[in-house]
Amino acid sequence: MTFASLGLSHALLRAVGELGYEAPTPIQAAAIPVALAGRDLQASAETGSGKTAAFVLPVLQGIEAVARPRRTQALVLVPTRELAAQVGESMREIARFLAEPVKVSILYGGVSINPQMMALRGGADVVVATPGRLLDVVAQNALNLTSVRCLVLDEADRLLEAGFSDELQRVLALLPTARQNLLFSATFPAAVQALADGLLRDPVRVDIAREPEVPARIEEHAIEVDAARRTPLLRHLIEKGAWSRALVFVATRYACDHVADKLCKAGIPAAAFHGDASQGARTRVLADFKAGQLQVLVATDLGARGIDISQLPVVVNYDLPRSATDYVHRIGRTARAGAQGLAVSFIGAQDEAHFRLIEKRQSRRVPRERIEGYEPTETAVPGAATGGVKGKRPSKKDKLRAAGLR
Ligand code: AMP
Repeated sequence: MTFASLGLSHALLRAVGELGYEAPTPIQAAAIPVALAGRDLQASAETGSGKTAAFVLPVLQGIEAVARPRRTQALVLVPTRELAAQVGESMREIARFLAEPVKVSILYGGVSINPQMMALRGGADVVVATPGRLLDVVAQNALNLTSVRCLVLDEADRLLEAGFSDELQRVLALLPTARQNLLFSATFPAAVQALADGLLRDPVRVDIAREPEVPARIEEHAIEVDAARRTPLLRHLIEKGAWSRALVFVATRYACDHVADKLCKAGIPAAAFHGDASQGARTRVLADFKAGQLQVLVATDLGARGIDISQLPVVVNYDLPRSATDYVHRIGRTARAGAQGLAVSFIGAQDEAHFRLIEKRQSRRVPRERIEGYEPTETAVPGAATGGVKGKRPSKKDKLRAAGLR
């Protein structure tokens, strides 16, 4: 399979060549011809599958002769600021190769709205936006969406998870009904499928990555430790393992700050990464981490969403994720591009049952380990709430078991 066989223009073929893409990824091979044919698309694809280019290329090819002032012909909705920036930049990078310059505007919240509105003067051919900020900009009459011919929803599951459901409906109401829709999502829970069903007309379904699986080159460790001893253990592992760079997942924003602070005080360059910080601060932290000036990034799931950091050797689950899918998302951030990766989970007495559920969902056991000097002293309370795996109700058996314990 080659890019040339997908129906892309010469300019875009030159662009993919310059980017060093030798062959289309499976999602690109499946989605690009469908999108170029003007059909609606429902695609299941993960971050890292090449899904961005799978819609960026056909969207750019579909931009018709640029009118003056420019009319917005394509709209890409994404759940986070980082993803907006990443997708927008990919779009601009590829658009540079087009004969006629296509203008891409990127809109997201958490920063001043004025520069974004100024940048919209004279219009934009493509807009990449988070829903909330997009609505604000429209409300200020800085953007008109009545010429949109193509709508892309990227990471639709996260769009809904991030609580954008109402905003999404309000954005949809601003668009012409006759348009092409391309919907990408890692998962299709009922809410996403309902959105897709309400949105798509006779879509082509492309299913590349159904249940995400952990690539074999990730080495998983589950270390038993008391909750109160996790930060000292983390320090110990960072120092002993001489980890050059690690992404540490915690459950709350408070824990983000707390753990990062403790590591800094111990002389380990670390920073918290969550939605409370200003966009400028987040961008700076990410740049420092990428440049190797920060050794450890402490993040929540939402905070870390969509960050594409290559060469991430270690991921730590300081707090376990809520679901098995999040577990795979988290540890999938290591070992990208064929590299070897290490995923370490801290298991407290209260986490054991929950971790077992995560293991069960993946049909795999991770041997429990103990580190000398950090052995746990707490034991699990029988029948203690596990938190459960999100999206999974207790089975009849679970309920009987719980009743028996009572
Ligand atoms: P995405 O799933 O869109 O986040 O893309 C993941 C990474 O794969 C990005 O760094 C892209 O630059 C890269 N990529 C996308 N398409 C290709 C391709 N056909 N060949 C090689 N790398 C690609």
